[in-house]
Amino acid sequence: MTSLLIKNAAAIMTGLAGAAARHAGPDIRISAGRIAALGALTPQPGEQILDATDCVIYPAWVNTHHHLFQALLKGEPLGLNATLTPWLAATPYRFRAGFDAASFRLAARIGLIELALSGCATVADHNYLYYPGQDYDSSAILFEEAARLGLRFVLCRGGATLTRQLEAELPQALRPESMAAYMADMERLASQFHDPAPEAMRRVVMAPTTPPYSMQPGELREAAAVARKLGLRLHSHLSETVGYQDSVNAMRGISPVRYCESIDWLGADVWFAHLVKLDPDEIALLGATRTGIAHCPQSNGRLGSGIAPIRTLEAAGVPVSIGVDGAASNEAADMISETHVAWLMQRAKGGEAAQPKFRGGAGEAGADAASVEDVIRWGSSGGAAVLGLPAIGSLAEGQAADIAIYDLSRNPRYFGLHDLAIAPVACGGSAHLRSLLVGGREIVREGAIPDLDMAELAAEARAATRALIRRAEAA
Ligand SMILES: [Zn+2]
Repeated sequence: MTSLLIKNAAAIMTGLAGAAARHAGPDIRISAGRIAALGALTPQPGEQILDATDCVIYPAWVNTHHHLFQALLKGEPLGLNATLTPWLAATPYRFRAGFDAASFRLAARIGLIELALSGCATVADHNYLYYPGQDYDSSAILFEEAARLGLRFVLCRGGATLTRQLEAELPQALRPESMAAYMADMERLASQFHDPAPEAMRRVVMAPTTPPYSMQPGELREAAAVARKLGLRLHSHLSETVGYQDSVNAMRGISPVRYCESIDWLGADVWFAHLVKLDPDEIALLGATRTGIAHCPQSNGRLGSGIAPIRTLEAAGVPVSIGVDGAASNEAADMISETHVAWLMQRAKGGEAAQPKFRGGAGEAGADAASVEDVIRWGSSGGAAVLGLPAIGSLAEGQAADIAIYDLSRNPRYFGLHDLAIAPVACGGSAHLRSLLVGGREIVREGAIPDLDMAELAAEARAATRALIRRAEAA
């Protein structure tokens, strides 16, 4: 097998921590889908060369929370200025019964393409389109679309055995599944798709949509036990807004994280999306149990949920990763805009907490709350850690060759920089993706997916969006 030599990179970010966050390179050799060497390397006879002059190299991104079906629900007017609970009723829950196999597949395709074009190689999707009598297999469609593009895919199998009040009042309410049907499908998915390998292309995760609302406590405890017996991880939403604190307090008289402790839903094999609103003892408990987070700053901003205390969580021991969340609550479900916002929001949060010295505060603060290296680590090796895929997410010898190469010579946004390595995250925008490699295979070349007709995809998206609106209005 011939090897590939990436030559002359302007900078290499590894996704690792501390001094290892940058590698002097300037070259990377890839052989048999893995990183064979980093350094100043001499071409070997017959070796393929990729000239990376003016390019910066990142580990391909790992997105740990998404709802791909929402790619056809962006900017939906009734939910655009609503907080989480009314937004759920107005947008995803009002529209989801209107999806069929074709529109679901199209939405997944659009979302996965958007991610790939931002340099993302691994996608964990929290899919909750499951109901009795459903005439299409949404799980299989997601795996098929990811495989078609060559991306790694982690199916977080959502769903519910209870109907949430906010949905019950909608004419389009989907009926919940029975616990027996849910568990039978989990066993089917695990046997059909789950690969425990450290660089698996396909994984399955137990992920009832939202612990306080989706299942009874006994069912959640059973779900956790079944997942652990099958060797599957656990994922869900938690503490996205103060609404979680109110609901769990009213239902159980405790905090959301304490509730999860009571149903065996904490641990190094669990990660939650959001974790924005937390009491100090909840942060300590998440850290002590090594329960992870998918930080989704764009969605948290769009819905007015707040800013997750990422530095405090990480200091407590919580593994940190980044998720774009569904495109119905952020309108830009790509990893560059998400990491750019993560970088800014943690700093803004630090500044928000600052107090003037004359009032006993410490003065200006916040700018050291998140470095570009931190954000890259959260979005790459951090994601690999919460997904349990240790062979991806960092650029080091022996790791899978999941690599994003950004060419900074095409766009004035990236000119004049004193440190090119920070450009894709610090400048945001859309750095030209020279190449995206997944296991050494080129998925994106010169900002495009080979053989993809973008104009045709746009026309399909317009037609499908119109049809979804018609169906929602007719209900
Ligand atoms: Zn979500």
